Amino acid sequence: MKRLIIASLLFAMPMLSSAQAQPDLESGVGWTMTNLDLEVRIENDDPSMTVEGTMTVRLDIDRSSGPSFALNLSSTAMRWVTLDGPKNSQVQLNEELPGAEAALMANVRLDKAASRGDELDFRFALELTAPAPQLMARTDIALSSWVEAWYPVAITSLDYEQTFTAKTSTVSGTTTLDLPGEWIALSDGELTKREHSNGRTIEVWDLKGKPVARGFAAAQYTAAEREVDGRTIRIYLLNEHVMGVDQLAGLIAESMAAQEARLGPFPFAGYGVAEVPNDIEGWSAASQQTFIMSKSANFDLEHGNLPLWAHEMCHGWWGNTVGTSGPGAKVASESLAQFGVLISVEALEGVDAMVEFLEFSRSGYSRRQCARGYYSFIDQGQDHALATMGNSDLSGGTTHMLADSKGMWMYHMLRRRIGDETFFATLRGLIDEYGGRDMSLDDIRQAFVEAAPDQELEQFFAQWLDRTGAPRIDVAWSTPEAGRVEILLTQQADVDPFELDLVIEIEFEDGSTKRERVGVSGMESVLSVATSSGISVITLDPDRDLLIWRPAYDAPPSVDGVALVAMAPWVDVSVYEGSYFMEAIQETAMVYGGDEDLWVQAGDYLLQLFPIEHHRFKSNMGVVEFQIENGKATGFIVELDSGGNAEGVRVEDEGAK
Ligand SMILES: [Zn+2]
Repeated sequence: MKRLIIASLLFAMPMLSSAQAQPDLESGVGWTMTNLDLEVRIENDDPSMTVEGTMTVRLDIDRSSGPSFALNLSSTAMRWVTLDGPKNSQVQLNEELPGAEAALMANVRLDKAASRGDELDFRFALELTAPAPQLMARTDIALSSWVEAWYPVAITSLDYEQTFTAKTSTVSGTTTLDLPGEWIALSDGELTKREHSNGRTIEVWDLKGKPVARGFAAAQYTAAEREVDGRTIRIYLLNEHVMGVDQLAGLIAESMAAQEARLGPFPFAGYGVAEVPNDIEGWSAASQQTFIMSKSANFDLEHGNLPLWAHEMCHGWWGNTVGTSGPGAKVASESLAQFGVLISVEALEGVDAMVEFLEFSRSGYSRRQCARGYYSFIDQGQDHALATMGNSDLSGGTTHMLADSKGMWMYHMLRRRIGDETFFATLRGLIDEYGGRDMSLDDIRQAFVEAAPDQELEQFFAQWLDRTGAPRIDVAWSTPEAGRVEILLTQQADVDPFELDLVIEIEFEDGSTKRERVGVSGMESVLSVATSSGISVITLDPDRDLLIWRPAYDAPPSVDGVALVAMAPWVDVSVYEGSYFMEAIQETAMVYGGDEDLWVQAGDYLLQLFPIEHHRFKSNMGVVEFQIENGKATGFIVELDSGGNAEGVRVEDEGAK
């Protein structure tokens, strides 16, 4: 089979420059939106989207000559048509926001300055003039994402980078959708009305006072619902899949029940999954605050892709309710969302399946978010100490992967060390304490140290968060005298040794087994065991309590059973089986991806592959074009210089190695 595949790209949304000046009367800042009622009308024959609505803002600084509202985070998709406010106020529409390339502003100047606490009401109309990566109206689907700022966002401070983000578009109110008659929508909040009349569908989604950054997906869906503890799980499918809509709804409902049993009530009115067509460019799955939009390909897995839904659902607690700040913040959001996969897989499939995921991840999910993936980062010199990682790199970047691999393991090891009761009670305590505000990695350390004071957790956290690497331990044994075996554990020589409370399982030649606990510290640890039988096998950490290297982690990844490793003079390219899913919880970044179950690692970038007919450049960060035939990969790695000129290196692979 001949396949021409081009890699997708990472691209960053325009960086917003920040201004630190104090707000003045003309700057339009200092206003907080307290309510927003949206009325969205979708046409599908000649596709269009108009967004009208009313909003209320309150002044939270002493004086202002009027508010400013912004649209559009990633590209100039929505335009202002009208904005009506207080009598005699002047309005300028579709103005620029310095430093935010895509933004279109509405600047309101009142005839008389407002004072702190004043509230103003506005009515507005917007239209979609060009599609954005997660905002579009087509004949078969219309969708919008909270990362696009597709409705007005009040600019609260002059520090635009902080204040004009997906997160600051959170506001309570209702979303009314006026849709083609065959269509239904999935949005945030409680569905309080769905009526079909005059060839149209009218829906009202009510946030019931809870501020949420909104999105929706609308199409001719087949839908299923499940109630879990008063919350509604909604599954919206476009096509038939291995797992039908009812079965998938059941799976995700069980996943939520499992996570609620550990973490407490899910913080939103419901959770949903909406399928979107594979031919939408630029992303594979997009997490909204209370649902996820995911391409058709992500549904075509025998196992139902539980890890993907479980991870995104768990962001409902970590990321969407508890915020993060400070160094290593991804360990306070991403790693905990990833731990949600362990909770769900353990509850639904058993502890062995959880261990399998910890070690090797799973098809349909990022193959690097596991122990094997983490050791590959070490091998490639891309490891970082979790506690010092920044929070700003791209979604598919290394820190994200480290948080979802080693960070997940850190929580797993912590749980095994202090026990389920203390571990989950401490997590629930953190949700209570930090819900609605930011939590730092230090806050997490402190909470666990206080919860388990006799567990030497300062040393545990220092070892797993403040330094790079993870243990590699060789085991050897000898029989210095009859009836006694000496077991020698040797740590890797070129890194500082780890301190571990290690269980080893000894299998004797007579078939009996025995477990011993060894305090490992320093380069070498010796254990003497009385035995009348010889040793056949020694297994380190048989229960997978610890992140330590195991021989299986060195087995090369493969595609169709063939290991593919292509080498170029200036960058290693590895083609793995697996796929990468876009995340948009914290980051204003996207991963260009597709439905091919392949991804490429090129330097620091993870690039998912997808088949397209012709070559297109999406950014200057790099393009990989691959052709895979009979298990051999040939292709190009191309980097564009600042003038847009391509410089490429052709790589040819020998096939299996
Ligand atoms: Zn995530």
